[in-house]
This record gives sequence, structure tokens and C-alpha cells, in this order.
Amino acid sequence: MPEMPQMQALAERLDANVGGHALTGYEPLGFSSLKTFAPPPESVVGDTLTRVGRRGKYVVFEFANGNRVLLHLSQAGRLDVESPPKRTKPKGAVVRWKFENQVALLVREFGTERKAGWWVVAPGDDGPMASLGPEALSDEFATLVRESTDGRRVHTLLRDQHTVAGIGRGYSDDILHRAKLSPYASLKSMSPEERERLIAAVHDVLADGLERERKRQGGLSANKLGEHFVVHGKHGVPCPVCGDDLQRVSYESHEVVYCPRCQTGGKVLADRRLSRLVK
Ligand SMILES: [Zn+2]
Repeated sequence: MPEMPQMQALAERLDANVGGHALTGYEPLGFSSLKTFAPPPESVVGDTLTRVGRRGKYVVFEFANGNRVLLHLSQAGRLDVESPPKRTKPKGAVVRWKFENQVALLVREFGTERKAGWWVVAPGDDGPMASLGPEALSDEFATLVRESTDGRRVHTLLRDQHTVAGIGRGYSDDILHRAKLSPYASLKSMSPEERERLIAAVHDVLADGLERERKRQGGLSANKLGEHFVVHGKHGVPCPVCGDDLQRVSYESHEVVYCPRCQTGGKVLADRRLSRLVK
């Protein structure tokens, strides 16, 4: 899933591509991808897009009349910058927005899950962003890490958008590896020094990710976005720090990758899928 670095860099590129230009029209290409009915999308047609920003994993299109369009790509949503605009309706197409400078943005989805969505919200309405926690790089989140007695596994906490916005499965693996913390540790059980390591790792890993994402051109089109992770998706590969094999814990929808020597004092965490097979 695209996370904060992908979405931040994408928002910056979109701002450069279509910021300052009027939206001339839109083509709804996928059923049920528009999550709001009022104000209607027509309320921003003909209006100038003043700025493209980001909040959590949402791209935020701000219009001169105060209305905003929010876009969430979810797991497999992608965005193509079309210059000039195309008339095609590719498989998985969600919506195409057309701008006066002969650039269009096509949102589409890989696979069959239809989870990418967009919202049109009035001034003062944050829509689905209202329940987001603080930004990952904010002082507010650093304070939470220093003071919280949250008992959940830190891997779960980092991915909970209500607790902290912008981090997903990929960067949470890399952050905890960088911090040398077990994915099963909790803030409740962490020493002050471990908490500082976590804060520093969040900043370092996301800054590295952002630097890399800012080299990307155009939209966010590629199917696979995560080849650059340090440990995420790389179980069985030698740890880049100590050389031991990276291990994983598998869940229905995702897996957690970690290095036993660097993160868990050598302990291999129970893999629920594996133990189910053994039974
Ligand atoms: Zn290691």
C-alpha cells in the first residue's frame, strides 16, 4: 500500500502538474468509488485547484471555493498523469479528472478489491480524515510515544491510522528493524531510551522513503511500489545489519518481517500460520 512517503511525493508532483489550474470535468469510471453525495463533484468543476497536499495516506485537492477532493488509494490504487488526457477506460478505472492545462489524472486499481475511493467535502469538513491520529513526523506523535502506556503490539499501533497517520505494513517493518525493537513490544513495556529509538527510526525511515519517492516521475503507476524496503517483504533474506536470515509472522492479510538477532534477542516469534499447519 502506498504510505506517507509515496503519498507525500505524489501530492507534490500533482501540485506541480495541475496546481493552479481549473478542473474542467471528471469521468466517473468505477461504481461506488465516490464516497460522498454532497457537495457534488460538479461543485468543483470549473473551479481552480489552488493546492495539492496530503494528510495521512490521503491526497488533498484544495479548490478556490473552499471545497476539497480527497483521494485514498488503499492497497492497490494507482494514479496516472495523462498529458494529453486519454479517453480510454482501463481495467480497474476509478475516475479521471481533467484540467484546463490538458493534463488529466486517472485513478485506477490493480486486482479485484475495489477499495480506492474519493470524497468531495465542504469547508470545515474533514470527511474520513476526521478520525486520523497525528502525522507520523509530528511533535504530537513523538509526545505520544514518550508518554503513552498503550499495551498493543507496537507493529499494530504504528499501522493504526487513528493513532498515527501515514504508516502502513511496509514502513512499520522497516521502522522497527531500524529501531531494533520487537514488533511484539508495546509502548507500555518500553524504556525511555527505546521510545527515543522508535521516534528516531520513524523520522529516519520516513525521511529516507520520502527522499527516494521524490525521485519518481509522473503519477504513481507501477504495480509494485515496495522493492526498496530494507526488510519488509524480505523474509529469508540476510539481515542487512547482522547477516542472519530475516523471519516473518504471517497473518491473513499481511506478514510482519523482523530480524531475531537485531530485534528480539534471538527469539523467533510464533508464526500462527506455521503452527496451524503443524497441528
Ligand atoms: Zn539483524
